Amino acid sequence: MPSFFGHFIIAISVFIVCFASSNSGETCSSNQNSNQNTNQNSEPSSCSGTTADNKENKFTKSWNEYLTAYEKAQDDVKTTACQTEEKSSSKLHCEYKRVIQQEITQYAQITKSMINEARKLASHPITYININGTLYRSKADCLFPARCQGVEHFLLKLSSKLPDFEIVLNNHDWPYAKKNFHSKPIPLFSFSKTSDYWDIFYPAWTFWAGGPAISKYPTGLGRWDLMRKNLLLSAKKWPWSKKLSTAFFRGSRTSSERDNVILLSRDKPDLIDAAYTKNQAWKSKADTLGKDPSPEVTLEDHCKYKYLFNFRGVAASFRLKHLFMCESLVLHVGSDWLEFFYPALKPWVHYVPVAPNASVKKIEDLLNFLRSHEDIATKIAQKGHLFIKDSLNMQDVEAYWVELLTKYAQKLSFIPTVEQALMKKITK
Ligand code: UDP
Repeated sequence: MPSFFGHFIIAISVFIVCFASSNSGETCSSNQNSNQNTNQNSEPSSCSGTTADNKENKFTKSWNEYLTAYEKAQDDVKTTACQTEEKSSSKLHCEYKRVIQQEITQYAQITKSMINEARKLASHPITYININGTLYRSKADCLFPARCQGVEHFLLKLSSKLPDFEIVLNNHDWPYAKKNFHSKPIPLFSFSKTSDYWDIFYPAWTFWAGGPAISKYPTGLGRWDLMRKNLLLSAKKWPWSKKLSTAFFRGSRTSSERDNVILLSRDKPDLIDAAYTKNQAWKSKADTLGKDPSPEVTLEDHCKYKYLFNFRGVAASFRLKHLFMCESLVLHVGSDWLEFFYPALKPWVHYVPVAPNASVKKIEDLLNFLRSHEDIATKIAQKGHLFIKDSLNMQDVEAYWVELLTKYAQKLSFIPTVEQALMKKITK
């Protein structure tokens, strides 16, 4: 029988192994492993106390999980993604059609009182009415004129193709129609939301104008058509073989979910170059996690790096589509905040998913895995790039607007009319 001292040594060993494994971001037993969601690199549950696994086995286990998730995703996409033939038969990609269908089938009909409710709910809502190809906007000034311009570019261009409609559009960053508070859908148009909201996805103003203005883009991040061209040129300049193996992130601390990549970078700068920049809300170093703000980096220069991180900010971040244009591998953190095109992008097919609560060690482990599996990394990078390059161009955005407003208008239970006192005609 072991002595008291012997028991003490065993207990200490168990504690050390558990502590090491929980810190390494690995699971403690294969049972716990099999319960893990392979869709995201979620955090493991706490250590069960087993001492059998040595560190090397645990290391292999997490990499096996990544491999399994990758292979499963390749199989799943064959059965779940819509096929390209469907795209050629219609201008709108079938994945976007699905999104619109989901949004609109929530409504048996859309009544005037539902639209009035949407108008009451949003702060500074904007009403657009289209009648016989003439577009009208509510007379109250736009709180964000560039954002209105970014939306009106599409509505004006398409108005003659569109049916008569009345919509209420929210051009704040966040959605309003929370399902918890409203038992029935409210037809408020917002650019980004989670599944907790009724809001209807419209393509963000930044496809044309009004994106975040940073020092590198003083007039905002808009004009997706021009950014696409610039980013494609940069991607050509930085093919995978020339890209740096360091992962990369630059942005402000609009969400603390970004902290762990910054902390990892401070510890392992060769593995990842991630730093916080200033935004308008910056007051002190506390807003950049205790360090001076880093200079901003153009999106074109992001293309120098093989692995690019995307995070939500206040809502979905506008950067996601730009990162794909670089032909780098996108590591997309979290899956809650969406724009209309996000559901078409599949984890482990177009990007590598990362859990929003992934620890520093877990992120390090994932990056090491990707650096050791460049065959997988390049395949995913290519797929993601091709989808955004081929299926998120300006024509796709226009086609989305047309289908969305056509399907929406079919649900209207009233004939839209213009009250001259409230609305003004808008022209190019
Ligand atoms: N951005 C950039 N370079 C930088 C910092 C930010 O290009 O050095 C871009 C970023 O990619 C995003 C936008 O500016 O599209 C706003 O970034 P931020 O992190 O401030 O906010 P987010 O919208 O992501 O919450």
